[in-house]
Amino acid sequence: MIVVKKFGGSSVGDAERMKRVARRIAETYDKGNQVAVVVSAMGDTTDDLIALSKQVTSNPSAREMDMLLSTGEQVSIAMLAMTLAEMGYKAISLTGAQAGYHTDGTYSKSKIVSIDNSRVKQELDNGNIVIVAGFQGIDESGEINTLGRGGSDTSAVALAIALNADVCEIYTDVDGVYTADPRVVEKAWKMPEVSYDEMLEMAAMGALVLQPRSVELAKMYGLKLHVRSSFNHNEGTIVKEEALMNNDLEKDLMVCGVAHDMNVLKATIFGVPDKPGVASSIFGKLADEKVNVDMIIQSGSRDAKQDISFTCGRDELNKVDRILKEVVADLPADNYTLVDNFAKVSVVGAGMISHPGVAATMFKTLSDINANIGMIATSEIKISCIVDEAKVKEAVVALHTAFGLDR
Ligand code: ADP
Ligand code: ASP
Ligand code: MG
Repeated sequence: MIVVKKFGGSSVGDAERMKRVARRIAETYDKGNQVAVVVSAMGDTTDDLIALSKQVTSNPSAREMDMLLSTGEQVSIAMLAMTLAEMGYKAISLTGAQAGYHTDGTYSKSKIVSIDNSRVKQELDNGNIVIVAGFQGIDESGEINTLGRGGSDTSAVALAIALNADVCEIYTDVDGVYTADPRVVEKAWKMPEVSYDEMLEMAAMGALVLQPRSVELAKMYGLKLHVRSSFNHNEGTIVKEEALMNNDLEKDLMVCGVAHDMNVLKATIFGVPDKPGVASSIFGKLADEKVNVDMIIQSGSRDAKQDISFTCGRDELNKVDRILKEVVADLPADNYTLVDNFAKVSVVGAGMISHPGVAATMFKTLSDINANIGMIATSEIKISCIVDEAKVKEAVVALHTAFGLDR
């Protein structure tokens, strides 16, 4: 069998953990499998590198930032290959470029365009355990691109697809995918299975455990994922097409999980002319600069003017600030604000398609804890609200209870 395993930052946080991971890999290799491993940067290395850059600039070039951040994974792959070699195993480390990851040229949130699997295959056929740097690839002109925070998940899924692997395991610091972040909700529990669609919404709404793009890719190719702990051998969560409803609760759950996201920047443009083409020009500019806009609301019109608010990631602050300065001058609009003390809380579940009243329960629950709702967004299987950052954890706990998820 061909097995792809991905180990996140906390799983390889120090030398002891690196050794534990190496033993885990060796177990699978010893059973006669070909093993390709994708690793993240050790511990908080990526955050530390970002902090390091801030010591010299508040506005680094995207190219140099990718150059810097991609070094984190390069440390891990070499360390892990050495650890395995010390244990007597044949292992070789490969950067994203060496492993054949071709990316689309966007710095800091690149997409994988293709993987040329020839080098990895050759090394596997030579009996090597192949250790690949997650989170990175190389574009047409040879530039290093990174895949966005959590991007090693996507590196692993893409490699599993490119190798036509039999198994893709995502090892992390929790036992699997829970009904809410287990660090926030004590009564959250591990789901044995979750469907691609529900996992995708959970991930996109901030459940860090998988990068959304990795779930999208897995769904596209029908690749099952096994999310599990690197600290024990418990069965984790299987992410696949059709998941069991969580029926052992003996009732139909409207909601399978609650997610939250602190990475919210809210921008408001005041006094925007109320005429055709204005939204298109604002959001066109944001799209041209690859800003991922999440929620949007537009106020009613007064004196032929209105206000438009939207949210995006906090890492876009500098870029959005520059774009909105131009937008306000060009339209012209009155002014704009950028606020980063909001967070998003979401309830997710395919069950809400057939159960009315999910929104009502959500709003009542938020009202009961005195959380003011700033913005609302819905899809068929999720409802999200923007609330004060200081209230969001309390909101997650309260919603988990309100939707009958506590165990
Ligand atoms: P890794 O370094 O292995 O990639 P991450 O920190 O990116 O790990 O993701 C794992 C973390 O995701 C967990 O420690 C947990 O706090 C968080 N998390 C958020 N929501 C969930 C959820 N629904 N289920 C499991 N973990 C979650
Ligand atoms: N090291 C990168 C990050 O911290 C990628 C990853 O861990 O998946 O986001
Ligand atoms: Mg991660």
